[in-house]
Amino acid sequence: MDETLWKAAQLEMQRREAYRERYGLRTMGRYTDEQPFSNRVICAVCGNVFWRRTWYREYADIKVWQCGKRYREKGVAGCCSGNLHEKDLHKAFVRAWNEILDGRDARLPEWEKQARGDDPLLAFRARQTIELTADACHMTRIDLRLVARVLEHVDVHPAGLVSFHFLDGTQVDINCGE
Ligand SMILES: [Zn+2]
Repeated sequence: MDETLWKAAQLEMQRREAYRERYGLRTMGRYTDEQPFSNRVICAVCGNVFWRRTWYREYADIKVWQCGKRYREKGVAGCCSGNLHEKDLHKAFVRAWNEILDGRDARLPEWEKQARGDDPLLAFRARQTIELTADACHMTRIDLRLVARVLEHVDVHPAGLVSFHFLDGTQVDINCGE
């Protein structure tokens, strides 16, 4: 492994540690490839992570994401944030990623500058993003492996606004209600 890549890997480990500390997490989750949104969906009301829950229904089970502080203690008012249906989260990610693809030409100079910069991790992320967005077609359904590679976290605000923070530093806001 060359030295720059090694440095980038060290910085990535530090980033994950800082991330875990910030959100009080013990791990980043075990199945991050199959379930990359685990520990990456953050409540913008209280700062806690969202948990994935299943509502069992007769015809089809429904997956929803919910703030972990919503029902923390009996008799104590929990966080007032709402539910986020997984299908809406997935749709929002698809829209955010397509927005990045559409804005590629405008963002490219910044990524190229970052790719030549002093921070080996940011440089790596910028090169990766340039590669992943080159000749890419619009995403039509969620690609969880791509989510695992590019998403840093997503803030869920009240009233359907979700802000995706990508590992290269790009932020895209999506209004689920639109
Ligand atoms: Zn909350």
